[in-house]
Amino acid sequence: MTQPTIISRGEHGISRDQIDSNALKVLYRLHNAGFQAYLVGGGVRDLLLGLEPKDFDIATDATPEDVRNLFRNCRLIGRRFRLAHIHFGREIIEVATFRGEHSPRNKNGVLDNSGRILRDNVYGTLEEDVWRRDFKVNALYYNIADFSVVDFTGAMTDINDRTMRMIGDAETRYREDPVRMLRAVRFAAKLDFSIHKDSETPIYELSTVLSEIPAARLFDESIKLFHSGTAVKCFELLRHYGLFQVLFPQTEAALKQDPESEVFIVKVLQSTDARIMDGNNVNPAFVFAALLWQPLLNQTQRFLSDGLPVNLAMQKAIDKVLPAQLRMTSMPKRLSLIMKDIWFLQDRLANHSGKRAIAAFTHQRFRAAYDFLCLRSAAGEDVAKHCVFWTDLQKLSPQKQEKALQGKKSFMSRFKKAKKV
Ligand code: ATP
Ligand code: MG
Repeated sequence: MTQPTIISRGEHGISRDQIDSNALKVLYRLHNAGFQAYLVGGGVRDLLLGLEPKDFDIATDATPEDVRNLFRNCRLIGRRFRLAHIHFGREIIEVATFRGEHSPRNKNGVLDNSGRILRDNVYGTLEEDVWRRDFKVNALYYNIADFSVVDFTGAMTDINDRTMRMIGDAETRYREDPVRMLRAVRFAAKLDFSIHKDSETPIYELSTVLSEIPAARLFDESIKLFHSGTAVKCFELLRHYGLFQVLFPQTEAALKQDPESEVFIVKVLQSTDARIMDGNNVNPAFVFAALLWQPLLNQTQRFLSDGLPVNLAMQKAIDKVLPAQLRMTSMPKRLSLIMKDIWFLQDRLANHSGKRAIAAFTHQRFRAAYDFLCLRSAAGEDVAKHCVFWTDLQKLSPQKQEKALQGKKSFMSRFKKAKKV
């Protein structure tokens, strides 16, 4: 038995009023029903670091069925990893039963022959649960029974040193679940932590193992990286560790061929970070459209050289570039449709009047396409005049906008004169 370090309520900075009220309700109800109940993972980690947690996860010795019996608003989800979701309006509190050790005889926990976890439904004790978590800093438990923090792995040292260390042998743990490499990058960026050498070194070697993960899960994890509020840092770290080339092979190839194309990606990620910081919404399709922009331009150029007209060249390029990416990171159709809209509108926005310009301006995706255009301009593409035109147009009254777009040749000069007055 390993002895945990118990950090009593007076020795750590977590107070109950920092914990989400619904999470507290769940903790108390479990506790009052005689179960163990702990806040765990990012919630504890972030509170100790003085950050606002993204979500509050709960660990308990109650089985998922026990949890369902306690909460009316509970739904059990997941086969690979069975969890209870407790719904409070739009908010979901996730409750996980302690996981135990895998043994070859126990069919509820299954590894494949490369050591990957396929199923993880062997229940256990808190002490066992600790070791299946990824990084030490993610394995702290806040006990609702006495408000102490339970530390089995020496995580407090890592919190103080701002270091992330994998629990157990890093290579084995990355092979069990290669997504942990992406999590390492995300937390290192978000928390501004360094990754301990022993946990860092295997990533360079193992990056390609990521390709064995289902494309839908890789898409979800990519979104978490790019919507973390530290997307630029994530992008840099992903490239540094060789993970980016696995997730976005076409983009990496385009970046190798034309290193300058990085400027646009960085601009888009900076603007994503700024939007998240300001509490504005972000659409994953926008970032993906940006990441694939250079590969798409290169491919379109090839079709143009074959003599195809612009629209058709772009259509054929999309038909090549998009499916190739979706094999790695699949996404819901509605998002890939938005990407296509953003791309096609780029050419439309090069028209300042006439049918195509009106269609672009009234298009549902005008705003996204316009933002995309202006970021291209900021990154040095030769589209500044278009960005300026559409920026100015949006400042006009609806009547003037309509007139302008109907193609009165003298509009821009009149508009400029009007502005001077
Ligand atoms: P955040 O919510 O800020 O993204 P988090 O650490 O809470 O970070 P979650 O994905 O919410 O991450 O998971 C909650 C906890 O579950 C983690 O802190 C970790 O202990 C454990 N966990 C999640 N994913 C994995 C994984 N792939 N391998 C091992 N443990 C994991
Ligand atoms: Mg969490």
